[in-house]
Amino acid sequence: MQNVRRYRDFHRESIDNPEAFWRREAARIHWDTPFDSVLDRSNPPFARWFTGGRTNLCFNAVDRHLASRAQQNALVYVSTETGIERRYTYADLHAEVNRMAAVMRSLGVKRGERVLIYLPMIPEAVFAMLACARLGAIHSVVFGGFAAPSLAARIDDARPVLLVSADAGARGGKVIDYTPLVDEAMARAEHAPPHVLLIDRQLAPERFSAPYLVHYEPLRAQFHDAQVPCEWLESNAPSYILYTSGTTGKPKGVQRDVGGYAVALAASMEYIFGGRAGDTMFTASDIGWVVGHSYIIYAPLLAGMTTVMYEGTPLRPDGGIWWRLVEQHRINLMFTAPTAIRVLKKQDPALLRAADLSSLRTLFLAGEPLDEPTATWISDALGKPVVDNYWQTETGWPMLAIQGGVEALPQKPGSPGVPCYGYDLVLRDEHTGEPCASGTKGVITLGYPLPPGCMQTVWGDDARFVKTYWESVPGQQVYSTFDWGVQDKNGYVTILGRTDDVINVAGHRLGTREIEEAISSHASVAEVAVVGVNDAVKGQAALAFVVLRDASAAADPKAADRLAAAIATTVDRQLGAIGRPARVHFVSMLPKTRSGKLLRRAIAALAEGREPGDLPTIEDASALQQIRETVQAARKE
Ligand code: AMP
Repeated sequence: MQNVRRYRDFHRESIDNPEAFWRREAARIHWDTPFDSVLDRSNPPFARWFTGGRTNLCFNAVDRHLASRAQQNALVYVSTETGIERRYTYADLHAEVNRMAAVMRSLGVKRGERVLIYLPMIPEAVFAMLACARLGAIHSVVFGGFAAPSLAARIDDARPVLLVSADAGARGGKVIDYTPLVDEAMARAEHAPPHVLLIDRQLAPERFSAPYLVHYEPLRAQFHDAQVPCEWLESNAPSYILYTSGTTGKPKGVQRDVGGYAVALAASMEYIFGGRAGDTMFTASDIGWVVGHSYIIYAPLLAGMTTVMYEGTPLRPDGGIWWRLVEQHRINLMFTAPTAIRVLKKQDPALLRAADLSSLRTLFLAGEPLDEPTATWISDALGKPVVDNYWQTETGWPMLAIQGGVEALPQKPGSPGVPCYGYDLVLRDEHTGEPCASGTKGVITLGYPLPPGCMQTVWGDDARFVKTYWESVPGQQVYSTFDWGVQDKNGYVTILGRTDDVINVAGHRLGTREIEEAISSHASVAEVAVVGVNDAVKGQAALAFVVLRDASAAADPKAADRLAAAIATTVDRQLGAIGRPARVHFVSMLPKTRSGKLLRRAIAALAEGREPGDLPTIEDASALQQIRETVQAARKE
């Protein structure tokens, strides 16, 4: 394919003639049976890509490369938590995936069935995901930081036939014992699977004795030389479910296909990330998030690259660790979230300068707004281009970016760039649904059809997919991202935050409703409002304003501190530490409208030291005054 394409024509063609555009891109992957049609638009807002075509994600990510790169590293694993480093060539990866697939098959995993993966950042997580893909089973990876009730809720929604887990995770030098979490989730879930396949890292004391427990290691030995054929799946068969937070307390299972996802990721590697076969990519995220699915695992492997998987923090053993990884593994592309860079900014710059970064071409950042000082600092410090890109779990790959593999447009500070090919991205007025003039704030929407690789539906709930995503912009059947933005006359979009009650802490999406539900489960809590406020490092932090059943329980500061700590622990138990509010404040009432609706935006404004503006519908203005005083008192502390 030619290397220089004019962005505007390229994008235009992808919208005006998606069939021709994506037919060309589909040649990037292997089809066991060619597709009959590129796009089936017979049932909007659902779109089906490459109908009738049969393919397999694992075949494309692993087997296809054996002929030319069997001895090239596919996966380099580094854990600074355990000191373990392992390298797997494509041949090794193929063997491990076959073993894992044979083990899963022996435990009853078949095409179309779900496997829930609750694992830390270990190579077996990659083997397990690829083994599911090989068998035609649907994986659902749950981030290891989620607590037992969250895990149980996902089990009940996905109804897996197998759960794959480990004895423990590790973070910042601390071992996190998974077994009590898994035991509790298995006990809570109504649809608990018959088996839990345990990867024993020998980090936690052996306590797993439950009847559903199956140890991986002996089975792996038994199936050491197994060969498991790839199941050829119709392009639109589901490949995975990944849960994400929304406005309600119930997470949504984002369902993705096989063929469209493979094509979209392979194309994005060239056009957006500039990755080539043989390159090495280090994506510092977690397999529990969409960035991990797409850019730790599938996209680099589909492209015949080497992917670096890292367990650890950017600060241990010191703040130079990531840069030493770049030097040691000759990393060409790096991808992380702005929060990590804000954390590293506080470190001695000598740590960065000490490493040979000559292999590195570009640093990609996504997941939350990239502030200008952070972008400038890291770009100057590295002497490399930094490329912001905007997307979400639902889309699977970037919606906005400077697409260097199409045309190297100039960067605009504070903006992730221009709409990516395939996305008919339009900013619309929240009341009229009409397109906004440039320079005017609007909701970021996508026209039908979403391009390949995007979510197909909400797992098991087509109606929710339609209602949530396609019926929220007045008068228009368009997909809402639930993000505010503003677009300039050259097409650059700047993101201005969420339109819903979702907050973004350190690049992780959290529903304030979910945190509120967790807090409400504490016996002393009568009512609670959770809002996101600006945070210098994490982008946003969650603050909770709690009304107690009995106000005297927090009458003196010591009792209040104890109660706030107990409430935070409740969130840890219900949701996981990632949902824990940065601060719990006690108030005697919450500001509401006369019809009883919480005035969250007003609370968030006050919590950030801004004035909320006129609120003619407020029931009792003294509630606002209380929040103002509470926040001011906390600032003084
Ligand atoms: P998640 O689905 O967890 O990846 O979260 C997606 C949300 O993160 C988006 O809807 C945005 O609110 C935010 N987001 C992701 N990438 C960016 C970015 N580059 N700039 C600003 N916000 C972003």
